[in-house]
Amino acid sequence: MSSLPASAAAKKPPIIWVNLSLFAVTFLVTVIGVPWYALTHGFSSSLVIGLIATLVFAGLSITAGYHRLWAHRAYDAHWSLRILFALGGALALQNSALHWASDHREHHKHVDDNDKDPYSAKRGFWYSHIGWMLREYQASRYHDYNNVKDLQKDPIVMWQHRYYLPLAILTTIGWPLALGVMVGDVWGALILVGVARLVINHHTTFFINSLAHIWGKQTYTDRNTARDNGFLALFTFGEGYHNYHHIFSADYRNGIRWWHYDPTKWLIRLGAWLGLTTNLKRTNGYQIERARLEMQFKKAKDKAQISCETTLAKLHDEFDLVVTKLRDYYQVQKQLLDLKRQNMHVPTVAELKQKATTLRTAFEQQQRDFSAMLQRTLRGAQIN
Ligand SMILES: [Zn+2]
Ligand SMILES: [Zn+2]
Repeated sequence: MSSLPASAAAKKPPIIWVNLSLFAVTFLVTVIGVPWYALTHGFSSSLVIGLIATLVFAGLSITAGYHRLWAHRAYDAHWSLRILFALGGALALQNSALHWASDHREHHKHVDDNDKDPYSAKRGFWYSHIGWMLREYQASRYHDYNNVKDLQKDPIVMWQHRYYLPLAILTTIGWPLALGVMVGDVWGALILVGVARLVINHHTTFFINSLAHIWGKQTYTDRNTARDNGFLALFTFGEGYHNYHHIFSADYRNGIRWWHYDPTKWLIRLGAWLGLTTNLKRTNGYQIERARLEMQFKKAKDKAQISCETTLAKLHDEFDLVVTKLRDYYQVQKQLLDLKRQNMHVPTVAELKQKATTLRTAFEQQQRDFSAMLQRTLRGAQIN
């Protein structure tokens, strides 16, 4: 809380008692009630399966629905999927999609600005994790939701916003109650699938605002606090690649490599196969690689604090060369894609494929030379 402006620290806005009691009670029931019930009554395997399924449904509704679909418009979704996301979002109890997206767009627009970013990480872990929801810090902003005008045209978003409270009660209490009746353990279902599930859903989302701005690598940019963290991705349905997300937020993917764990991306892609999602937006590879190389270059310059002008000039040359080769390669790749789309005859495609392979090899070789030079520069700086 160190960088809190003096004026804000002196006069804190009023506490939101509903939020404070909800977070406190659900947390206490989870840490005390769950072990107590497990020891005295035990949870059936049906309830454990119910817990996992509910966690996944509510979690993906936030990541694929609230976040990538509505806050960022990274793709379009069929109405049936939007209804599911609206219900799952109510089940996750994170306010309406309209409200959530409004906060989140402010977060991206003013990231790390302690006065304008609703959950600025620069106000500390606690504030960005949960503190920002415990007081009326942002109340003045919600009168017209003017940063989500586009979403106000979506009847499903507006239906969920208007009936958020009954929908939230129906899903968060009604569903565990129904499940409890079905498996013959109402209290067990309420504690496990109702309360503990909600706490897990809450804190895994909150970790994106707190931990994903503190812990991990700044692979693509250091202009904000967002970090890439593969470990966090495991608990957040793939949202751990937050540094990438902050620089290329229109991309429907957060984890862009095939080995990155990003089930939200897989769900959106599965939706495309089924015809339920369309217009999936991806950042082009050239921009991504360029940002990554620029960041490597910058880090080396900062770390080594190169004083020798010749070394700096050499590094610059190597960097320019690697970027040129990267661009050449992607230009041919693009031509190749265009030709494939037009169903051009095979010899032209084969020729271009060969050219693309050669350019890719040239780029990779240059990238190795550039990395080797970065390493040499850093080692040199350590010796000095
Ligand atoms: Zn963020
Ligand atoms: Zn985002």
